[in-house]
Amino acid sequence: MSVSTFSEPAPSALLLLGRGVDLASERGVECVGGLPAPSDPDLVERARAARAALGSRAFVLGHHYQRDEVIEFADVTGDSFKLAREAAARPEAEFIIFCGVHFMAESADILTSDHQQVILPDLAAGCSMADMAAIDQVEDAWDVLVDAGVAESTVPVTYMNSAASIKAFTGRHGGTICTSSNAHVALRWAFDKVGGLGGTGKVLFMPDQHLGRNTAVQQLGLSLDDCVVFDPRKPGGGLTTEQLRDARMILWRGHCSVHGRFSVRNVTDIRAAVPDVTVIVHPECQHEVVLAADLVGSTEYIVKALDAAEPGSSWAVGTELNLVRRLAAAHPDKNIHYLDSTVCFCSTMNRIDLPHLVWAMESLVAGRPVNRIVVDADDAHWARVALDQMLALPGY
Ligand code: SF4
Repeated sequence: MSVSTFSEPAPSALLLLGRGVDLASERGVECVGGLPAPSDPDLVERARAARAALGSRAFVLGHHYQRDEVIEFADVTGDSFKLAREAAARPEAEFIIFCGVHFMAESADILTSDHQQVILPDLAAGCSMADMAAIDQVEDAWDVLVDAGVAESTVPVTYMNSAASIKAFTGRHGGTICTSSNAHVALRWAFDKVGGLGGTGKVLFMPDQHLGRNTAVQQLGLSLDDCVVFDPRKPGGGLTTEQLRDARMILWRGHCSVHGRFSVRNVTDIRAAVPDVTVIVHPECQHEVVLAADLVGSTEYIVKALDAAEPGSSWAVGTELNLVRRLAAAHPDKNIHYLDSTVCFCSTMNRIDLPHLVWAMESLVAGRPVNRIVVDADDAHWARVALDQMLALPGY
């Protein structure tokens, strides 16, 4: 299977930095004030001073995929859901500064109190996967399922990596959010709602086809033939009514532009080059890559696996490069490789750099918050319903 590509940008495709400010479109913002380069000692000093001035009024969250220069100022690091919960557990913090991407800041806004403000240092830090599912497309897709007579036996399960509007859709239609750690639990819960795994009920899984497929096949025992891909750019999703009726997993045609690039060839090459290497990959990778790897799991799973690895052991890691480099630096006694040296950093994660963080913090110190992320009340309510359903799943 080849990596999916899109010839046309999604309606909410990310826009370039330095072209002015537009909160509604996530247009990138310029740091005003001519801030120096991230490595400039003066800038590091300004970051320390601003952080100290904010004290307990601010809480800084850093996703695992963020740059080192930013992680240095994070009060806590983790994956998207861990960070959202950390934000919710800090009601005393007036400002939540989210060093991550847009959907994460939205989730933090949904899960925190009204008096707390969530700040995203650069509004252009989106997620290409989340942008592959726009709410109009999802509403149209549901209409297709209604026309095919399968909507009543379909439960939406939506990955955390999605816009708040898609999470709200999921809440309105009785579904749940999931993470890469608990996708198998969410799928079992969803199938149980519509007759169980042995029945004919379906899951509409959005927006990452790979996580949905890998989880359904590897962990629930469904077959590849049970899975169909709904392409929002094609009439009827590119599927016949019969295909929709026969399917168990209706996978949205979305993917991660970083994890989707790892290939089986990468796995073959690293096995040939490094004796006794253990290949560990994220479930956003293509199904064939997951099959070829030794271990598959979420970002937190990968971090724990490397922490627990034997000194001297060899690993090839298929996830975002900032994290792999940090793991390699933290474990000099282990032989840690990046699965494909040609795969780049997540470009949107990398938009949060030290100049933007300093700009955001100094603006807060000056009493004029910038880049606040606010989810509208109705979407926030229904997205919270879907997030709360995830929290109610076994294991949380
Ligand atoms: S690594 Fe992939 S899923 Fe994560 S923010 Fe970047 S594009 Fe989105």
